[in-house]
Amino acid sequence: MSEEKDSMRAIVYDAPEVFRVHEIPTPSPGPGELRFRVELAGVCGTDHHIHDGSFFAAFPLTPGHEPVGIVDAIGDGVDGFRIGQRIVATGVGGCGTCSNCRRGRPLLCANLTALGVTGPGAFAEYMVAPAAWCFDASDLTPEVAVLAEPTACAIHGVERLRVAPGSRALVFGAGPTGLILAQLLATGGAAHVTVAAPSDHKLRLALTLGVDAAVKIGRDGSGYERLTEAAPEGYDVVVDATGASAVAERALGLVRDGGTVLIYGVTSPNESVTINPFDVYRREITITGSFAQISSFPDALAALRSGRVLTRGLITHRYPLDRFGDALTAVSTDPTAHKVVIAP
Ligand SMILES: [Zn+2]
Ligand SMILES: [Zn+2]
Repeated sequence: MSEEKDSMRAIVYDAPEVFRVHEIPTPSPGPGELRFRVELAGVCGTDHHIHDGSFFAAFPLTPGHEPVGIVDAIGDGVDGFRIGQRIVATGVGGCGTCSNCRRGRPLLCANLTALGVTGPGAFAEYMVAPAAWCFDASDLTPEVAVLAEPTACAIHGVERLRVAPGSRALVFGAGPTGLILAQLLATGGAAHVTVAAPSDHKLRLALTLGVDAAVKIGRDGSGYERLTEAAPEGYDVVVDATGASAVAERALGLVRDGGTVLIYGVTSPNESVTINPFDVYRREITITGSFAQISSFPDALAALRSGRVLTRGLITHRYPLDRFGDALTAVSTDPTAHKVVIAP
């Protein structure tokens, strides 16, 4: 154990929308766990859903599920890590005993643990996680490593899609996770990848990261005709990475016969869309979903190390803990905000 500081600063939510920077006891790693000093923690749309109470979170809560940090205390029985090592951590684990865990689908666990959602996360000076959920990131900068979790989620999305070589793909949403997914589709065999979004700033960035076309669309539905003109037969793969249910609804009209729609953004749980079941039947359309990830960190880190996933320009805003509210506002309202990170 290193020198112990017995209290730390952390964002603590007592209930949705009610948070403050609080001085709380510094957690100690139990057997099999690591404690790390958080260098950076990404803020994402999910944190916004936690904030407004529309995501399955357990309060009181310190959110933050995209950490990179430096190991500073090692619990009993942990091998393979050292004090001072940079690591990233996935916060997601199954219970191992529910029926979904026992049939090999732990991401669908009935009692899913998600640090930063159901347990203490990364918007704090220190965080504790099971060592089994921690991965070496000593060869990456914190600015690259902090994108491990969004990259892992994108890799799981690609696994769900099973893109055929030569496909034409369309990704709605040019946020960090949309652009990482678009890159993985391009390098995973798609012949052409289009990103559609309302923000010029984000679309310009998309083009620097290797997508083939960037199309501006409006939240009012404007610009969709350009997507249809560019692919009159439709897109083999259409991804909604926005979480806007209106986009998910329009995706059906853009997918090619025999194609696949991936719901990848977090929509509000009580929203519905209308689909035409005859269309799904007659055109053999697949509608699938991708929720988070549970085993994709090794592949994500490999893609970040090799540069197959590029991250330059993705981090646009950085805030200290006591400006967490500003960070949330930036994520939801600033059109120039891409990846927003907290540096505790
Ligand atoms: Zn996230
Ligand atoms: Zn389970």
